[in-house]
Amino acid sequence: MTERTLVLVKPDGVSRKLIGEVLARIERKGLDIVALELRTVDRETAAQHYAEHDGKPFFDSLLEFITSGPVLSAVVEGPRAIAAWRQLAGGTDPVEKATPGTIRGDFGLETQFNLVHGSDSPESSAREIKLWFPNL
Ligand code: UDP
Repeated sequence: MTERTLVLVKPDGVSRKLIGEVLARIERKGLDIVALELRTVDRETAAQHYAEHDGKPFFDSLLEFITSGPVLSAVVEGPRAIAAWRQLAGGTDPVEKATPGTIRGDFGLETQFNLVHGSDSPESSAREIKLWFPNL
């Protein structure tokens, strides 16, 4: 079953020059990159992207972080792309959850600064792709 997922390289990943590393892993896995953009997002877009976390203690600092610099956004396609990309990314906490060999497990230390994002379901994928790539 071919799926699409939204991939982000967050500002920490961009400033640490991990864009190439992340895209290489996506390609090596056999997934297709069908759209790609680098931009700094405004607070409104960031709040919509993370709407499910509105009200949580980390929400404000998460928005500060995501809007702090350029983000690479990509639409990635392939069989079971949502789960495949989340497997490459690793668990949310780079130390407790992400295992070595994953992007977060190999390069991350802190839960907030965990380098990448991936949609967690077909519903969020559709919503997020519309938000980041309205013309796709
Ligand atoms: N996050 C955070 N503190 C937390 C939980 C999450 O700063 O206690 C940040 C982290 O950057 C994470 C994002 O909020 O990637 C979204 O959280 P979610 O639980 O949706 O994790 P993800 O789907 O990104 O693994």
